[in-house]
This record gives sequence, structure tokens and C-alpha cells, in this order.
Amino acid sequence: RKVNIALCGLGRYANVLKAGIAASNYCHLAGIITGTPAKATQWMTEFNIPHKNSYTYQTFDQIIHNPAIDLVYITLPNGLHKEFTLRAAKAGKHVIVEKPMAFTPQDCQQMIDACQQAGVQLAVGYRLHYDPHHIELKRLGQHKVFGQVRLIEASLGYRLAGIPPDDWHLKKALAGGGPLMNLGVYCVQSARYVLGEEPLAVTAQFGPVTMPDLFREVEENITWQLYFPSGAICTSSCTSNCSIDRFYASADEGYFELEPALSYGPFKGRSSQGAFDFPVVNQQAAQLDDIAQHILSKKALPSHIAGEEGRRDMRVIEGIYRAATTGQKVNLV
Ligand code: NAD
Repeated sequence: RKVNIALCGLGRYANVLKAGIAASNYCHLAGIITGTPAKATQWMTEFNIPHKNSYTYQTFDQIIHNPAIDLVYITLPNGLHKEFTLRAAKAGKHVIVEKPMAFTPQDCQQMIDACQQAGVQLAVGYRLHYDPHHIELKRLGQHKVFGQVRLIEASLGYRLAGIPPDDWHLKKALAGGGPLMNLGVYCVQSARYVLGEEPLAVTAQFGPVTMPDLFREVEENITWQLYFPSGAICTSSCTSNCSIDRFYASADEGYFELEPALSYGPFKGRSSQGAFDFPVVNQQAAQLDDIAQHILSKKALPSHIAGEEGRRDMRVIEGIYRAATTGQKVNLV
């Protein structure tokens, strides 16, 4: 048996996920939710999806009557994640929601509660936990293979100069923020799982606005520092004005790094003992199969991809924004 998935929002990431579903062993693309009739026709033809499994955002709630769909994977703009998670839970469907899970930890908690009450599972689309390079970073850091990690640098950015000014990524209501909302969880997550600790406090600074016509509502750049109980510090930048994609950890007796590090890869890594040699995997297929196997065997999802984990990250992100806005160090505990 496979988990029958309906993809909700057929944009760029849905197009990445369709390959992941095709490469998975335990998932089947059974349905779609889209506001664009031409996309509905195209996807129904390409994936042999019956008409009864195709919904619009208006007819979506009817999915409650459709036993041919087990799970809804939400790849809508960030500002719609909460609404559609609540609606999917109400319809009795398991949910995978893309990052960032929602705008605030309170919203995340509502989503967790709704799924719990409905008896469905809630996962956040944290694909990097399924990449062997990141599994190695976690092992090197948490097992202190090179001793205590003291300093991490983890940054991610893309230059968005050519983006249309009406793109949702530039709109506060739909994006929730700029590169911190869209990319920041990767930096925050990597620091948290390499150290195996929760940050105590954060300082942060907004960077300059170099494209004022585009960045009217959301930040263009942000840099922050997370302070951990062991004394380790992680410094990160997320930006929309240049490309950066790297992770570096300095420990007492060595270092380890990845570059590229936080995108889809292929990743390149090394430590003070030499180059990493891990296979390139389809992150989405591995992520989907793990979630599907847990659902099929009625087991709780692993904590690193469950809704609680998304809520923890959004608490940190909220703290980063508060620190950048106030100029103060913000306590996170
Ligand atoms: P996108 O703009 O390409 O796709 C969004 C889809 O939502 C489009 O098909 C659009 O038509 C639809 N939509 C429905 N209502 C809309 C509205 N009111 N305004 C705008 N679009 C609307 O975006 P994307 O890059 O696919 O990102 C979607 C989500 O996936 C985001 O939350 C993003 O953070 C996440 N994402 C995750 C990864 C990852 O690696 N896990 C990568 C990219 C994006």
C-alpha cells in the first residue's frame, strides 16, 4: 500500500516534489488542488489523476468525502500554510506543510492542536534531514567527533534582482518576511541539529536595502547570531541580493563544512580529516518515504520533522526579527 498524496499549490516546489513522489516507494500522486484550470488539466493528464481527485481552493473542503486521498502536501505561499493545514486537518487528511510552517509559534501551535484533535499527522517539509551530508554534520557535531563545536557559520541567499515586483515573496501578507522567512529555517535548523542544543538568545541586524523598488515590505538582508548553552555561537546571514549557500563548523580539534550546503545540492563537504564521500540522494523522495512509512505503520513521525520542530524554529525566527527590529539581545528561553 502507498500513501495517496494531493499536492496543494502547483508552483515551483510542487514541480520539484512531483519528481520526488515519482522516485519514492511508498507515495502516489493521487490528487491536486490548484486555482488554475490549465494546470489542473495538465497535471491530471500527466499523472493520470481522475477528475474527482482534482480540487480548487474553493472546493478543497470537499476532500473530506474522498477516501482516495490520505495526505495533503501544502506548497502554497507561506501566508496560506496555516489556513490550508487547518482545512486539511478538518477534512481528516494527514498534512505535510512546507517551510516556514507559519508566521508565529502561536499559529504553529494551532496547527499542531488541530491535527492532533483530528487524529492526523503533521510534518514540516524538512528535506535536509534525509541527506547523508547533513546526517554526517549532525553526527560530527552531536558526537563531538572533533570536540566541542565553538563557532558555526551557516548562510543562505539568492539574488532576486529579476523578480517581478508583484511576486508574493515580496509581499508581507503572503511571505511573512524576506529571506529570513523563506530561507532562515535552514540556517537555524543546521545550527540546532549540529549542536543538539536550543539557542538561549539572539542578536540580529537588518542589512542595507539595495533594491528599494522591490524590498518595500520585507527585508532584503539580515544577519544574526544565536547563543547556545555550551557557549557555541552560530552566525548566519540570509539575503536576497547575492548568492551564498554554506555551512562551516569550527570545533576544538577540527572543522567540518559543506558548500553548497542548504539547497538541493549536490553538496560538497569536507572535514579536517578529508573530503566527504556520500551519494547524491533525492531528498524529497527520502523524506516522503520516511513520512509515508510512519503513516502506514501508524507510528508518530520522527521529532525532527514533526510540527513541534517547525514551531521551535518559528520561535527562533520570531526572536531574530525582534532582535533586528529593537537592536536588543532577545532571550529565547
Ligand atoms: P510558487 O510561487 O512557485 O508556487 C506557489 C503556488 O501557489 C503557485 O502555483 C500559485 O499559483 C499558488 N497560489 C495560490 N494562491 C496564491 C496566492 N494568493 N498568491 C500567490 N500564489 C498563490 O512558490 P514556491 O517556490 O513553489 O513556494 C511554495 C512554498 O514552498 C513556499 O512556502 C516555500 O517556502 C516552499 N518551498 C520549499 C522549498 C524546499 O526546499 N523545501 C523550496 C521552494 C519553496
